[in-house]
Amino acid sequence: MQTFSFVFLAALTLAAATKLWLGMRHLSHIQRHRDRVPGEFANEISLDAHHKAADYSCAKTRFGLFATAFECGVILVLTFGGGLQLLHDVTAGWFAPGVARGVALAVLLATIMTIVDIPLGWYRTFGIEQRFGFNKMTPLLFFADILKHAALAAALGIPLVACILWVMEQAGAWWWLYAWLIWVAFNLFILAVYPTLIAPIFNKFLPLNDPLLKERIERLLEKCGFKVQGLMIMDGSRRSSHGNAYFTGFGKTKRIVFFDTLLARLAPTEIEAVLAHELGHFKLRHVIKRIAWIFTASLAFLWLLAQLMSQEWFYSGLNVQAPSTAMALILFFIVVPQFVFPLQPVTSFYSRKHEFEADTYAAQHASVPDLISALVKLYKDNASTLTPDPLHSAFYDSHPPATLRIARLQGYGK
Ligand SMILES: [Zn+2]
Repeated sequence: MQTFSFVFLAALTLAAATKLWLGMRHLSHIQRHRDRVPGEFANEISLDAHHKAADYSCAKTRFGLFATAFECGVILVLTFGGGLQLLHDVTAGWFAPGVARGVALAVLLATIMTIVDIPLGWYRTFGIEQRFGFNKMTPLLFFADILKHAALAAALGIPLVACILWVMEQAGAWWWLYAWLIWVAFNLFILAVYPTLIAPIFNKFLPLNDPLLKERIERLLEKCGFKVQGLMIMDGSRRSSHGNAYFTGFGKTKRIVFFDTLLARLAPTEIEAVLAHELGHFKLRHVIKRIAWIFTASLAFLWLLAQLMSQEWFYSGLNVQAPSTAMALILFFIVVPQFVFPLQPVTSFYSRKHEFEADTYAAQHASVPDLISALVKLYKDNASTLTPDPLHSAFYDSHPPATLRIARLQGYGK
């Protein structure tokens, strides 16, 4: 066995063991706090709702443990089990070496992964979400979604992969820079067309018509100096009763989207407070910072791929005897997450920092008690646990625990 095989296996084992350990901690922490609603929520959240949140979080965490083990199994089958080599041999029978063979390899692997993922998605939707009363999907919609996603991935992904592979093969030593430019352009294109061309494939969007709410929102937007083309309602209730609101698009396509499930449950003043929080993300440039960060990181990763792709050990260490640009790209997507997993707490930390900053912005531009009551409703309706394991939360949570957020907001209210 080669050195790189050992290094990769060590990283894979370490990442998986950490995920399993964090999941177990989370489970036992939630169980320990299941019998009592945390003091600060005792008035708003019943013991029944607290039990539901605990059981829902535990069900999702247990499923996460299984998914981690399953994913490790798939990675081992693809690499040391000879799966990727087999896929190469199949596509080598279809095409001569080159871009077409590379695209075929990527499509074949993506198709297999999509099929393998169906039972997991099914259990998530019709097992867990259904059991806790959140699921609104029918089996027909479930499969229609898979087919639509696959068609969209093919329409957008195949040309992108073909372009990248062509650049990797033809553009010489600086290919990674050209590939990066293509990647950036592709992402900006998706961001621009997502609200008007992609999102409507999956959901219906109607303009927000409630005159009182509309006036309230427009007043807030004006106060914050924010120009937006459309206020839209999305039929999120087609799939799930979880509520949400988000910003999308940029320039002319910029719009605010409310899930119908959110509008149904929050009072107009609470919706205004939630929107002020979202506006905070925009005004404080969180979105742009995030995009800039992703683009910078992808440039570094492409450079790294350029270095690895010419090394024979990169392939043979993962039990692949058929070096090619497409194979390098695929191996890279398998290998990198195992090595960058230890950085997860850093990205989560920045995300939570941004949430606190957006809360501060909301506190300055909307009512603090309304934001607090909206948050309590959202945590309750989404059955998010109020008692996460602190270490699990530090690793994964993009949003701070409810207790911390609300305690901080109460400080502003005084
Ligand atoms: Zn936020």
